[in-house]
Amino acid sequence: MDVIGFNDLVSSKQAARRFFLDFCWKNHQRFCPRCRERKLYRVSGGRRRCSRCCYTFHDFSRRFLNSCAFDCRQWLWFLKLFELEVPPRDMAAQLRVSYPTVLKGQDIVRRAIVAQALDATLLHRAGVWAGPGGKRPESAMRDSPVFGIIDVGGVVICDTLPELTPEELLLFKCNFRLRTASFGRVVYTAPYRNYLAMACCGPSLWPTDLVRHEDKRLPLDATDFWGLVKQRLGRVRGLPPVQFPLYLKEMELRYNCRNRDLLGVLAKALCAFVPDG
Ligand SMILES: [Zn+2]
Repeated sequence: MDVIGFNDLVSSKQAARRFFLDFCWKNHQRFCPRCRERKLYRVSGGRRRCSRCCYTFHDFSRRFLNSCAFDCRQWLWFLKLFELEVPPRDMAAQLRVSYPTVLKGQDIVRRAIVAQALDATLLHRAGVWAGPGGKRPESAMRDSPVFGIIDVGGVVICDTLPELTPEELLLFKCNFRLRTASFGRVVYTAPYRNYLAMACCGPSLWPTDLVRHEDKRLPLDATDFWGLVKQRLGRVRGLPPVQFPLYLKEMELRYNCRNRDLLGVLAKALCAFVPDG
C-alpha cells in the first residue's frame, strides 16, 4: 500500500477500524471465539455474549492485535513503519510511545506471522510461545529448532524439522563432512536431502572451541534470501535461540511478499486468533 492509500485509511478512526474488522469477520458474520457458536446476544459496550458458553467478547477479543495497547490507527502506523524496517528507537519517537512498547508490538507481529506458517503447530510444540493469551512453554528453549531451507521457484520455505536436533547436525558435520558456516550464533549447512541448507541457533552447536563453522561459499550464501537474513540478523546483538524462529519466519514472509502489499498481509495475520499453543 502506498502512502496515498494509507493516508485515507489513517485519516479517520472508523476507516482504520473497518480495515481491521474486514480481516476479523468474513462477511461481517460474528461467532463466539471460544466455541464458534453463531447465536449471540448484544451486551453493553459493543460487546456480544455467546448463547452457548456465555463468553462475552468484543470484535478483537483473543486476537493478536488486542494484545497491545494500540488503537487501530496506531496499529496501522506501527505496521507501516515495521514494513519499512524503521529501527525500533525511531519508531518509538515517531509513534510517541516507549521503546519497550515498540519491542512488544514487534514481538506480537512476529508471533502473528509464526501463527500463519504451515509449520506453526510444530514451532509451538517445540517451545515457541504462541502469543499473549496462549499457554507459556513449560521449559525455556535451549536451542532453536533445526530448519530446512528450500527455494521453490523464487518462494523460500523454512521448514521446521522436528526429527533433527542440533547434536545430529553436528554429527553429520563430524562423521559425514557436512559443510557448515555461521554468522553470530546462527549455523547453516551445505545441502541436505531436498533442502538447500539446514539452519539452527543455539549453544549445542558450539560444544568446544575445536568445533568451527567456517566453510566458505555454501550454496545458501549465493541466494538473495540468505543475503537479507544475514544483513538483518547481523544487526541483532546476541540473538537468543528462542527468537531465531521468529526472525527467520519474518524474513521468510518479507522475502516471499517482496512483490506484494506486506502491510495487508501483516494486518491479516494480526487479526487472527492467538492459538492456544
Ligand atoms: Zn461460545
